[in-house]
Amino acid sequence: MSVRGTYLDMPVSIDDLDGENLEYFRHCSEHNFHLQQCDDCKQLRYPPTTACPWCTCLTSKWVPVEGKGAVYSYEEVHHGIQPAFQARTPYMVLLVELDTQKAAPTEHESLRVIGNLTTPDGILAPPDVVKRVGIGSRMRMVFSDVCPGLSLPQWTLDETAVQPEKPWRYPQE
Ligand SMILES: [Zn+2]
Repeated sequence: MSVRGTYLDMPVSIDDLDGENLEYFRHCSEHNFHLQQCDDCKQLRYPPTTACPWCTCLTSKWVPVEGKGAVYSYEEVHHGIQPAFQARTPYMVLLVELDTQKAAPTEHESLRVIGNLTTPDGILAPPDVVKRVGIGSRMRMVFSDVCPGLSLPQWTLDETAVQPEKPWRYPQE
């Protein structure tokens, strides 16, 4: 069954034929992060796909994965194109490298999960928090609920972690 909701005034939907994403976001809606683990080579993968990108095996199982890691890259958005985002700039899009399966299956690979920088409640983070986050910042996953069967995985600063003294950021004005 397809899923339809609204996030920041924008329609969000998952088609009923998109079994992998339906399952992925269903786990997120239960605030339990899961990824597919290949039945053959046992590698976890992200984003959800039908076949294993490493060995092409077509079967996998969903396993719980800890939502913790460090910022690998980021984008700080100052010009919101979507009307609902314009009042929320600056906001951050983060690519967070999970601690799980780091540098595997090769040293250049890792599980890097995209999400917005949010408060612990899953609301887009205010400007003073945006300024504190950069490459290397330690993050933990939280969820923004959209509708039944669909929550978005997001990132908030991990209050329990030791943060880098000066996470790398683009030169500031
Ligand atoms: Zn595989």
